[in-house]
Amino acid sequence: MGITEALDRELWITRVALEEYDVRGALLLAGDTHAVVWDTLARPRDMTPYHPLIGQRSLTIVYSHGDWDHIWGTAGLPYRRARIVAHADTRHRFDTDVPDVLAKRRSAEPGAWDDVVLVPPTESFHGHRTLELRGLTLELHHLPGHTADCIVGFIPERGVLLAGDTIETPCPVIPADSPLAAWVSELRRWAADDRVRTVIPAHGPVGTRDLVCRNLEYLEAILSGRPVDPRGPLTPFYRETHIQNVRWSPAAGR
Ligand SMILES: [Zn+2]
Repeated sequence: MGITEALDRELWITRVALEEYDVRGALLLAGDTHAVVWDTLARPRDMTPYHPLIGQRSLTIVYSHGDWDHIWGTAGLPYRRARIVAHADTRHRFDTDVPDVLAKRRSAEPGAWDDVVLVPPTESFHGHRTLELRGLTLELHHLPGHTADCIVGFIPERGVLLAGDTIETPCPVIPADSPLAAWVSELRRWAADDRVRTVIPAHGPVGTRDLVCRNLEYLEAILSGRPVDPRGPLTPFYRETHIQNVRWSPAAGR
């Protein structure tokens, strides 16, 4: 069972423990009329705590990217009446790797994932997209790196950056085909943006703009082949992630 807590009256976060790591999503309430769910996490039941908070508000769901632990919980929401927004590449993934990943998981663990429904975005965008809510704005910005379809969400009125998997502690996950230089240059922009006060990543603790700076230092080191260590004690998952990340480095002969 996950933990749902209020950062304030309008912004809630839910964190659930998966086998190897935790994942976090958010719920933004704009007045009495609008609710936005940022990532639906791994299982429909992960969304149960949001029901009384959403109530009769109109519902927008945003996927930070198409990885399973961010999109498999959608059936736990009144998704048929929702608009679902994601990057165009995330929409494309629902026709390619998204169903494959679920099929593999179902065959590995029969019965355990039967309640998952794959619900593709109803609207998609390239570059950026702004959602005007009641008294609040949610800017969606493409930020490829962890995956090609990653986005971040920024709420300028609140200084909140919803970072998905583009910011992660102890270290982000860099796939072999990562557009790492693009990732670094976009994070430089956010690191220099003093409007950013609160950073809400999907994995690892919530923090301040400092989280962006730390991830940037790590990714810059990997990009330029400098030695770097992740922050803090490492679980087996992050130990392995760091080993794989270092292989990305040009010094490793790629
Ligand atoms: Zn993730």
